[in-house]
Amino acid sequence: MSVDLSAEKYEKHRQAGEILAQVRQETADRVDVGVSHLEVAEFAEDRIRELGGEPAFPVNISIDHEAAHATPAPNDESTFGEEMINLDIGVHIDGWLADTAITVDLSGNPELAEAPGEALEAAIDVIEPGIETGEIGAEIESVIDGYGFNPVVNLTGHGLGHWEQHTAPNIPNRAVSQGVELEVGDTVAIEPFATDGGGKVSEGADVEIYALDREGSVRNRQAREALEQIVEEFKTLPFARRWLETSRAKMALRRLEQQEIVHGYPVLQEEEGCLVSQKEHTVIVTEDGCEVTTRDR
Ligand code: MN
Ligand code: MN
Repeated sequence: MSVDLSAEKYEKHRQAGEILAQVRQETADRVDVGVSHLEVAEFAEDRIRELGGEPAFPVNISIDHEAAHATPAPNDESTFGEEMINLDIGVHIDGWLADTAITVDLSGNPELAEAPGEALEAAIDVIEPGIETGEIGAEIESVIDGYGFNPVVNLTGHGLGHWEQHTAPNIPNRAVSQGVELEVGDTVAIEPFATDGGGKVSEGADVEIYALDREGSVRNRQAREALEQIVEEFKTLPFARRWLETSRAKMALRRLEQQEIVHGYPVLQEEEGCLVSQKEHTVIVTEDGCEVTTRDR
């Protein structure tokens, strides 16, 4: 069966990617020593809306040993220092997503900052219908290994579903023998992570990002208000505590978590003292290769 890559859903993936490429650049340009994390996250999220998209998830700002799922708290006063900074940003148009990440290195480790980008280009070069996801992982691992760093092996690329940030297939960041074959029309995010640490992240204590698991009824007023906003606005996409309009958002989220209506995403991090870098693009698999929706224009 042939896939029509001009179908509306692909046009929306492309439109999301075009907005995202612009916002990624403008956001990275604002990152500097002394600049506020919250200001940068809100700049990106507002800019996405101005350009006609919606944030697909809270802007992730991961510092040094952090790899993913960090976003500013409400009233966060943190500022950037001489650090390794990963910005991971997503846009959706009617639930069709684009997902991208870039490392801004203020720490003076240019090789570590560069490695995931080169690994990503090597991965993009080999993507075509019929390639196994394990072969993509092998390309990524080989480039990062060549730099003398480790890929983070328990973070992976992924498919992008309708209103779903992470769907099958996983795209590993190392060679694996069991993989699945990509097909024309698959829309996937490829996201190599490199580290001077061991290459395996674990959960930290901070949680600022959540997502809905199921709808349900709650008695507490603030929890009910929060749930109404989540169902209406974010559906099954991840959201930030700071996006909730209800007073006492922390308590509301705790109630919703207790009833297993939402779950949190703890920050994922390497050992303290290590650095992690990341680069990510979204691609659509085509007849003869792939189209990168989040490429700089
Ligand atoms: Mn991402
Ligand atoms: Mn991703």
